[in-house]
Amino acid sequence: MDIDLTQPKMGFFTDVTLCIGCKACEVACKQWNQLPSDGYALSGNSYDNTNRLSSTTWRHVAFVEQMDRETPAASRWMMMSDVCKHCTNAGCFEACPTGAIVRNEFDDVYVQPDICNGCGYCVPSCPFGVVAVQPKAGVAQKCTLCYDRQKDGLEPACAKSCPTDSITFGPVDELRAKAQARVEALRERGTEVRLYGVDGEETKDVGPLNAFFLIPDRPEVFNLPPKPVLPSRFQPAAYTAGLAAALAMALVGAAVFRPSRERA
Ligand code: SF4
Ligand code: SF4
Repeated sequence: MDIDLTQPKMGFFTDVTLCIGCKACEVACKQWNQLPSDGYALSGNSYDNTNRLSSTTWRHVAFVEQMDRETPAASRWMMMSDVCKHCTNAGCFEACPTGAIVRNEFDDVYVQPDICNGCGYCVPSCPFGVVAVQPKAGVAQKCTLCYDRQKDGLEPACAKSCPTDSITFGPVDELRAKAQARVEALRERGTEVRLYGVDGEETKDVGPLNAFFLIPDRPEVFNLPPKPVLPSRFQPAAYTAGLAAALAMALVGAAVFRPSRERA
């Protein structure tokens, strides 16, 4: 297969201040990717009935209610369409033992279903709780950033369907410039916002995210970790502890067997 090395990184910019919670993105994603429904149970959590990203929900619209009883006018109802972040340093990619998870020519993190063996190592390795194994298919599944559509020059289904352009798709560099201009425009109007996944504290370990967000509050409010950590960062400490344990066992063994040899 010929790979176009001049192809820019492609990603999503999701602007939370523009989301109206219509869930067109969730539905379009399910339709295009032929993902089954998650049932009709009401969660009781605002208008959210899918609750989280899963192996069959690759876009999840979270509803965040901030009620201020003393100053009702200060109450806020915010919606955020969450998705796989397509991390620069992806925990799922690092953990996969079969090479099923790759970076494709658009620099997006893609699970190859014909190579995945369903071991699930990627699941706890994602600092964002995104990827999951689909029990029926027996493989790990998550957003592909509509790889099939991108190859045909089409934008992903969620971005195509979003009526307010809360989700936009394009070359990551262009999206970052657009996002920065949006931050400045909102700040001029007195709305305090920040970008998540461009250059903040959250990128120290996982690197910049190809799917990043404009948020009007702290990351935790939107279930985004303020400092996502890769599990591999704990490996040196784990190896050191293992070596120390092995050394201690060797010393104990030497102490136990030396007297018996002396007696013989
Ligand atoms: S968000 Fe999770 S599943 Fe998506 S690329 Fe990053 S580590 Fe992998
Ligand atoms: S389609 Fe756009 S406006 Fe509707 S829920 Fe998704 S992100 Fe929000």
